[in-house]
Amino acid sequence: MKLAERGSNFIRQFGGPGEDSQIVCFKFWQLVVAGGCPYRCAYCFLQTVPWFRFRPDELYGLVYTNVEEMVAEITHWLDDPIPKMMIVGELQDGLIFDSAYKKTSGEPLTHRVIPLFAAQKRHRLIFLTKSTQIQHALELAPTPQVVFSWSVNAEEIGAKWEHGTPLPSERFAAAEKMKKAGWPVRFRLDPMIPYADWKRGYAEAIKKINALLPEMVTLGALRATSYNGLRNAAKANGRDETIFDYLTETKDPSGFKYRIPFDTQVEMFRFAVDRLKSSIKPALCKEDRALWKALGMKFDGCHCLLGRNDAIVKKRNTEMEHARETGHGIGIGKPLPVLA
Ligand code: SF4
Repeated sequence: MKLAERGSNFIRQFGGPGEDSQIVCFKFWQLVVAGGCPYRCAYCFLQTVPWFRFRPDELYGLVYTNVEEMVAEITHWLDDPIPKMMIVGELQDGLIFDSAYKKTSGEPLTHRVIPLFAAQKRHRLIFLTKSTQIQHALELAPTPQVVFSWSVNAEEIGAKWEHGTPLPSERFAAAEKMKKAGWPVRFRLDPMIPYADWKRGYAEAIKKINALLPEMVTLGALRATSYNGLRNAAKANGRDETIFDYLTETKDPSGFKYRIPFDTQVEMFRFAVDRLKSSIKPALCKEDRALWKALGMKFDGCHCLLGRNDAIVKKRNTEMEHARETGHGIGIGKPLPVLA
């Protein structure tokens, strides 16, 4: 693992979908606590991010040392009177660096960041992870302002293609401990893979999810920006690229990503939604409106936002209203599910 000062801002806003895109996503806030990730998931998109392609040693973890600057940025961000959500784990695993921070800066990352969110009631923070490194977080008092979310999968998918990670069953065990300690918990069932025994594998995973009653479950399936790019990168990095045999050579209607066959994705997501307990909110992430429509789902918040009334959602709605009125801009004549 490498150490360095971060030269740019720790807090960034996602670039968001293009102005005329029908991908349902918003300009969410992310906290960049580290670069890269020591895990080696075969499908990890970080492998094709130009920064890591030119700095392959940083792909496996770069921890920042100017922690005081990160804390100052968060403190300033929290001053905003408009309620917001911040995600840790979009460009790295959100929790795997907790002990590294303790070693390099004297305190775990969770101990520096969580108390800042716990001290107020407007904003929320979410850690997205495959790590089971919960020991430091468990030393803190739980707060509704901070959520822990695990990316999970069918056990055999985790074992075959998420190299170096704790197995999904171990992640569920970590989530259970956090839930019992009083922390809000969520899951991402992602990326779903249509392997031969997927119904059994995902039925088992959903049973475990239901038993833990998370706030939300976000569904995702295998995807890639470049059809061969991610496969070639995985191969070059010694990861099992056979997972990409499940991708089609067709992008979603927005031209955003290569996906598994559309009908299969609908079938798998419907399978999951039908089995989730009714009190658990299902969500999708960066999916085309065609999929929302096929599933009959409407946007009701997601991992990266506070809910359907998040200020970022309202802003995009206003932009779309304006587009409709003026005939210019986002999704003219094609309302997103959030407005449908
Ligand atoms: S845990 Fe996430 S960030 Fe880490 S290798 Fe896997 S997909 Fe990439």
